[in-house]
Amino acid sequence: MSTTTITPAAAPSAGAIRVPYLDLSVDDPEFRERLLAAVGRVLDHGRFIMGPEHDEFEARIAAYCGRRHCVGVGSGTDAVYLALRALDIGPGDEVITTPMTWVATTNAVVLCGATPVFADIGEDLNIDAGRIEAAITRRTKAILPVHFTGQMCDMDAIMEIADRHGIALVEDAAQAFGARDHDRPAGSFGRVACFSMNPMKVFNAFGEAGAVVTDDDAIAERLRSLRYAGTINKEDCHEPSINGRLDTIHAAMMLVNLDYLDGKIAHRRLVADKYRDALAGVVDCAREKDGFFHSYYCFTLFAARRDALRKHLLSKGIETKIQHPLLMPQHTAYRERFKADVPVAERMVRRIICVPAHEDVSDDDIAFVSGAVREFYDG
Ligand SMILES: *Cc1c(COP(=O)(O)O)cnc(C)c1O
Repeated sequence: MSTTTITPAAAPSAGAIRVPYLDLSVDDPEFRERLLAAVGRVLDHGRFIMGPEHDEFEARIAAYCGRRHCVGVGSGTDAVYLALRALDIGPGDEVITTPMTWVATTNAVVLCGATPVFADIGEDLNIDAGRIEAAITRRTKAILPVHFTGQMCDMDAIMEIADRHGIALVEDAAQAFGARDHDRPAGSFGRVACFSMNPMKVFNAFGEAGAVVTDDDAIAERLRSLRYAGTINKEDCHEPSINGRLDTIHAAMMLVNLDYLDGKIAHRRLVADKYRDALAGVVDCAREKDGFFHSYYCFTLFAARRDALRKHLLSKGIETKIQHPLLMPQHTAYRERFKADVPVAERMVRRIICVPAHEDVSDDDIAFVSGAVREFYDG
C-alpha cells in the first residue's frame, strides 16, 4: 500500500443542481402526516427512551430478518462496535474485514482494541471469500464482511470458512437492509449482524439510529447491557461501555418508514435496470449477481477518467458521490498503522462513482444523466 497522502477531492461546486444525489426532505403529504402523527404520539406519552414504539421497532426488525432478537442502538457505528464487544473481541485479537467500506467498520474494530486485517475485494466490491482463508491466523477472532452498496457478499462461502475454523461471523449490513442472498435477508447470517439507519441509508431514521440482530440469547442480553453503560438493571455497571440507545422518536418514525421500504427498493431496482440499459457500451455499471437481490444503497459506475466525468456531470447540474474515496488503509489514522495487500480494491477505488438512483429519480432524470455520461465519453 502506498503511503502517499490522498485527500478526497471536495465535491466541485456548481450552479443549479438539476439532479441531486439525494434529497432527504419529506415532500409526500401522506408520508409526512403519518410521521408527524407518530412523533405526536411519542410527545403525548413522553417515554422518549425505551418507549413502546422502541420495543415494537425491535420486534418488527427481528421478524424482518428472521432473528430471535433485535437490539436498537444509537447508530450503525454503535452497532458494529457493540457487536464486537459482545463477542469479547479485544486487544490481541484480529478481525478480517474489507478495505472498501465506510471507516466506521474499521473504527469499531480498532476501538475494541483489536487489529483489522484486510482481505482484498472482488468485482462486486465485496470482500473476496477466496482471500479470507489466507488471512486467518491463531489470533483471528471474527470475520466482518460488509455488504457494500446494498449487494450482499457471497455468504455461503464466507459462512463455510467461518464455521470450518470456528470463527465468529459478524455482518456489517449497514448498507443492505432489505437486500437478499437468494432467499435469505441481510442480517440473517452472522452470529451477530449490524444495521445503520442513518438518513442516507435506504431504510432510514430521521437522525442517527442503528440496530443489532442475533439469535443468541446471551449475546442479546449482553448487548442490552453494553448499550447502556454496561449496566445490569440500569444501575450496576458490569463493564465500562457507552450510552448507545435508540430514541423512541426515531423508532416511531422508522415504524412508519418501514411500510414504504419495499416500494423504495423496487423503485431503486428499476432505476438501476434503466441506467444499465441506457449506459450499455458506454461505461461499466454495477451488476446484480445471480440469485442476489440488490437494494441499491448506491448505483455505481466503474468509470475511466472518473474525476473528469464527475466534473462534467456537475457542470450539467448532476450531483454524484464517490462512495467511498479512501480505502481503509489510506485513511490518515490508519496509513502508518495497517499494511494491506489489496490490489483489486486499489484499482477499483479510482473508478467508482455513484450516480443519483434514489426514490425521486424519474425516467427523465435517467435519460438526462445517461445522456451526459454518453456525451462525456463521445466528446
Ligand atoms: C453507514 C455505515 C456505518 C455506520 O453507520 P452510522 O449509522 O453512520 O454510524 C457502518 N458501516 C457501514 C458499511 C456503513 O455504510
